[in-house]
Amino acid sequence: MNLLIMGLPGAGKGTQAAKIVEEFGVAHISTGDMFRAAMANQTEMGRLAKLFIDKGELVPDEVTNGIVKERLAESDIAEKGFLLDGYPRTIEQAHALDETLKALDIKLDGVINIEVNPESLVERLSGRFICRSCGSTYHKVFNPTKVEGTCDVCGGHEFFQREDDKPETVKRRLDVNIAQGEPIIAHYRELGLVSDIQGNQDIDDVFADVKKAIAAIK
Ligand code: ADP
Ligand code: AMP
Repeated sequence: MNLLIMGLPGAGKGTQAAKIVEEFGVAHISTGDMFRAAMANQTEMGRLAKLFIDKGELVPDEVTNGIVKERLAESDIAEKGFLLDGYPRTIEQAHALDETLKALDIKLDGVINIEVNPESLVERLSGRFICRSCGSTYHKVFNPTKVEGTCDVCGGHEFFQREDDKPETVKRRLDVNIAQGEPIIAHYRELGLVSDIQGNQDIDDVFADVKKAIAAIK
């Protein structure tokens, strides 16, 4: 099964992606995670991406399309299927993805579109924190760890907040993503692939709706 998960920054894509991957065994491909790994490793691509990410801007399409194309061509994808998270984010990326999938003879099965009230997003992003060892995502108020200071998934004790979750950057990220997002969803609606999910509910209730949508796709 090959899926996209879409939604504004903070909509809950990563949170739902972790659950989808656990339940369905697909490969999680998050362009944001790939860029953060490249920045942490200080690769050339990471240094370039940082120039855009720190300002809340999008990394140029040719860079982003390139890393997705490479990842989709790896052998596990044909076996497991994929869940693309945070890509495509421009209509040009959507067209590039169409081309890449065609070239690899892969069919896209569905698009999970998490809809949220934009007013709730600043609060979600400013309270987000992430486990340094396994990357699990939490929220100070809405989704804290079960035991304070200990990751539920790996037992790690070190957490960090994303640099680009600062209020100044968040505003720009939301503006950029709102401006770019509409034509992408319209593109997939035309293909009859979109399942809209109400994202302003508890995490488990969102996931129950995601599972229903996936069952209808399969
Ligand atoms: P995205 O990947 O779309 O940017 P995340 O999954 O990282 O979003 O979620 C952003 C923040 O909001 C995280 O701190 C997460 O714990 C929290 N969150 C995710 N889903 C919900 C929800 N349904 N209700 C409240 N908070 C949520
Ligand atoms: P995310 O983790 O999805 O919130 O992405 C974090 C940041 O990485 C974004 O604000 C962008 O700067 C960059 N990024 C992630 N995915 C893309 C993409 N598909 N196109 C361009 N930039 C991206």
